[in-house]
Amino acid sequence: MMTMKKCPKCGSREVAPILYGMPAFDEELERQLDNQELYLGGCKVSEVDPQYHCFGCGKDVGTPPTLISRRGAEDYREIVTAIRFNDGGYFGGYEEVLIKKTTSGIISDYTPSFQREAMPVRRELTEKEWAKLLDRLFCKLYVHEWKKQYVDPDILDGEQWELEIRLTGRRVRNYYGSNDYPPYWNELKRTFKPFTK
Ligand SMILES: [Zn+2]
Repeated sequence: MMTMKKCPKCGSREVAPILYGMPAFDEELERQLDNQELYLGGCKVSEVDPQYHCFGCGKDVGTPPTLISRRGAEDYREIVTAIRFNDGGYFGGYEEVLIKKTTSGIISDYTPSFQREAMPVRRELTEKEWAKLLDRLFCKLYVHEWKKQYVDPDILDGEQWELEIRLTGRRVRNYYGSNDYPPYWNELKRTFKPFTK
């Protein structure tokens, strides 16, 4: 696991790793707890327990990218088949990156908005690039802990975005925003930048 920079739910940087179990108390541990560098999580319940505590919103975050369903436990990174990121506005148009994993390879397609004088870009990804992309989305941006919608109802038009993650078995995860953004928004935009040129 990479170190968490900020809470995926509220954006606070006051996050600390959770220490599970019954630790042996000493001065160092007391100091870390006092400084909120560590948080005691009590008994570990499962393999998908959150790894971080956020002192900003009080929630435990940073769960491993595990999807638990009637199919059992699956690692999101192993069941993603496509990722689509779309961003723009009514007047400027939308640009989109669609990355699809098929039996013949992993293909990224970039479609610029009608206003930008940019060309569509098609690129092939290596397995390594695909794995890196999924690691980033799930283990650094914690996309599986995001809200489904980020909407500021007081702004009309403006910017709209959509992130769709397709999984095996026709399952899909949708994230949508209208003039409002998740804490890892800039990181998300940066993630797709390389596929636009
Ligand atoms: Zn938080």
